[in-house]
Formats: sequence, C-alpha cells, structure tokens
Amino acid sequence: MSESLQAVRGMNDVLPREIAAWQHLERVLCGLLQDYGYEELRVPVVEHTELFKRSIGEYTDIVEKEMYTFNDSGGDSLTLRPEATAGIARAAISNGLLRGARLKLWTAGAMFRHERPQAGRFRQFHQFSVEAIGFAGPDVDAELIALCARLWRRLGVSRVRLVLNSLGTSAARGQYRAALQAYFQSHEAALDADSRRRLHGNPLRILDSKNPAMRALVEGAPVLTDYLDSESRAHFESLRAMLDALAIPYTINPRLVRGLDYYSRTVFEWITDALGAQDAVCSGGRYDGLIAQLGGEATPAVGFALGIERVVELIRQAGTAAAAPAPAVYVIASGAQAEARALQLAEQLREAMPGQGVQMNLGGGNFKAQFRRADRSGACLALILGDAELARGVAALKPLRREAGQSECALAELPGRVGKMLEEESWTST
Ligand code: ATP
Ligand code: MG
Repeated sequence: MSESLQAVRGMNDVLPREIAAWQHLERVLCGLLQDYGYEELRVPVVEHTELFKRSIGEYTDIVEKEMYTFNDSGGDSLTLRPEATAGIARAAISNGLLRGARLKLWTAGAMFRHERPQAGRFRQFHQFSVEAIGFAGPDVDAELIALCARLWRRLGVSRVRLVLNSLGTSAARGQYRAALQAYFQSHEAALDADSRRRLHGNPLRILDSKNPAMRALVEGAPVLTDYLDSESRAHFESLRAMLDALAIPYTINPRLVRGLDYYSRTVFEWITDALGAQDAVCSGGRYDGLIAQLGGEATPAVGFALGIERVVELIRQAGTAAAAPAPAVYVIASGAQAEARALQLAEQLREAMPGQGVQMNLGGGNFKAQFRRADRSGACLALILGDAELARGVAALKPLRREAGQSECALAELPGRVGKMLEEESWTST
C-alpha cells in the first residue's frame, strides 16, 4: 500500500462537525454587512507580487518572510494573497470603480502566510475583509467599529475588547520615525536581527516586534501620540467622542502600529484573552494613502480584517452556534418498485416543503437497518414504503421523536398529511 498523503503543514481541513460555527459566523456577518450597506466583491487568490510589496511594505513580516511567491511558467512573479485589502484596492482601481465614488465592499476567503503553525495561527487561514473607500471619516471609522461590536453581540461572543490608536498622517509619522530611529540607534546593541534590519528601512516596525526580548526597549521608546499632527488629533478625538456616544468601550494603546505599512490615522484591534498567545481576532484601520500609492486617484479609505478561525474558536467556546438542523422526514423504502416510487415521493415532499430536510435512505438495507439510520438522522418523521404498501396505494408514517405507532396515508394525500403531522409534532427546522 502506498503512503497516504497528508495536507500541507498549517493548512487545515474544516470538517463537517466544525462547519456549524463557520456557517453561523458567515450567515450573521453577511447579514450585518448587508444591513450596513456593504456589497460583496470577489478578488483573485493570486496577484502580482509587486502589489503586496508596494502596499503592505517591504519591511514587514509578511513581505520579508511570509509570502508564498512563485514564478508562473510565463515568468511572472505571483503571490498567494496574504491579505485582501491590497487586492480590493487594486480591483477598485483596475475596474474603474473609484472616480469619486464611495464604495462599501467586503470579501471573504483564504489567505496564505508562511508562518510557524500553532494554535490560532495557520499558513492557510480565512478572513472577512471589509473596506469603506472614499470616506474620510471619522464617522465611517466609528460605524465600522460599531458593526464589529454588533457582530460580537449577535454571535454571543463576550471576551473581546477594543484597542485603538492613531498613527497620524505619513508626514507627521516622518518626524516620529526620525525620533524613533535616534532612540533605537542609541540602543543598537540590544536590537535583534529583525529590528536591526528595520532600523533604517522602517523603525516603526520594531514596535510591532513579537520578540519578548525587545519588549523593555519598546516600552521606553518615544510615543507616537506626541507627534500627531493637529488634523489627525482632531480626527482621533471625534472618533473617540462617537464611540463614547455609541457606548462602545475601548482602551488606547499608543504602541499599536499594526503589521502593515499602509495604515494612517485610525488603527484598531479587537483582542481577546480566550485564545492564548494569538490575541487579535479582528484588526483594521485607515489607509488614506494606499490607493494613490497603487496608482489610483487619491482616495481615503478604512477597513478591517477579521480572522475567521479565531472567531470560530470564540463561537465554539461560547457554544452559540446552532447545530445543523436535522431532517424533518426520513424516507424508508424496501423492494425495487417501492424504492423507485419513494425517490419520487421524496422529491414531491421537497417541492411541497422547501427549507425542511427530506432525507432518502440510499443504498438499501432491511427495515431494521433503515430505521436505525432514520433514528440517528434526528428526523422527526419516518415515511415507510414497502412493495405491499405500494400495491395498496398507501405509505406508513411514524413519529420518531416520541413513542408512537405508525399510521397509514394514501400516497396522493402525502404532502398535506406530512405537513400536518410535522405541525402536530411542533417540528420547526429553524
Ligand atoms: P497577528 O498579530 O496575530 O499576526 P496580524 O496583525 O498579522 O495578526 P492582520 O494581518 O491584521 O493580522 O490580519 C487580520 C486578522 O487575521 C488577525 O487579527 C487574525 O485574527 C487573523 N490572522 C492573521 N494571521 C493569521 C494566521 N496566520 N492564522 C490565523 N489567523 C490569522
Ligand atoms: Mg501576523
């Protein structure tokens, strides 16, 4: 026997028993996004490598070491998307969607980063990416955060809290950058290899270091807040006032810089203490410069990305995802003619009661085995058809969720009778 193949490390199957929480999140969030006026856009999983280098930034973990990059047979350098904002911005530009328009867009799907796999951190993971393009804010910043807060409430997830910061404009950040560079330069011997490389390329990235040995040094660094330009300061203060008015609590973390270069002004993270080391479940911010940087007309924008696996784990812990509904009816048939007729009857029932599961016993088996499967399916009613019943033009119906005998029903009256019985059993599939 040949060796069985394994999945690629850090790339997981989502099994049927895990899917309820995924679908619950997808349903709730898609509904909310529609309520808030966001439209779905689907972008390719693969983009030109250049797109990510130019948007995410050369001196980031993602671009330095996490991208799945390859040359296709035509010699183009392509990359599996590590995040979706760059792709959405590219799509808005290349499809001519901008032109002064205001776009509220979302997309969802798989992202790829070559990181060290561990709980809550994978090489293929999934995000919802939500972007408001053409809005200068801060009202839209506040509304996006309110959308997240509503999402946690709808999901029944309570162990998340909001952390906020403002990065100012890129001009103001220039001054801060110089101060930061001077500070880290005076401690150059204490810097790890990553930080030393970033010292000249992008010293802000040092603040984002995940190396605990760098923590004390980072704690002592100059604070970005002291360098904010007055407009960014006003923007931040309005945002805070709006969040207060919405009764959304937050804390300010002046060292929150986020792992991507394209952010400006507002940055935020929803974090949790329920997932161990991986504490960020949803991260976002404003990226007023990105679209111009990618060759589009200057357009302010703000968005967030939600890590689906991490939120699914919070949903699992909260136990709030509804299990997949059991079928309403399980159809049991024995005998060649009865089986053929039962397939027809099942189709008839599906036509008559959309949204209610009708499960046909497939693959035969004696009555006893079929009843066992019917029971295990969780169905409310069994519909039983043998060649003898068929000859008399009837089928038997039996409630499965309580002790009860079976009754007969003329085939012609089946859909109506089944509907009535389900009502009597107060069966609801939702
Ligand atoms: P982290 O600090 O955990 O590495 P990040 O800052 O790299 O997160 P973003 O690029 O902002 O994360 O992505 C948004 C969200 O996607 C994160 O808040 C997290 O929930 C999720 N996420 C990011 N990387 C991974 C991964 N490798 N595996 C699973 N989820 C991830
Ligand atoms: Mg990361």
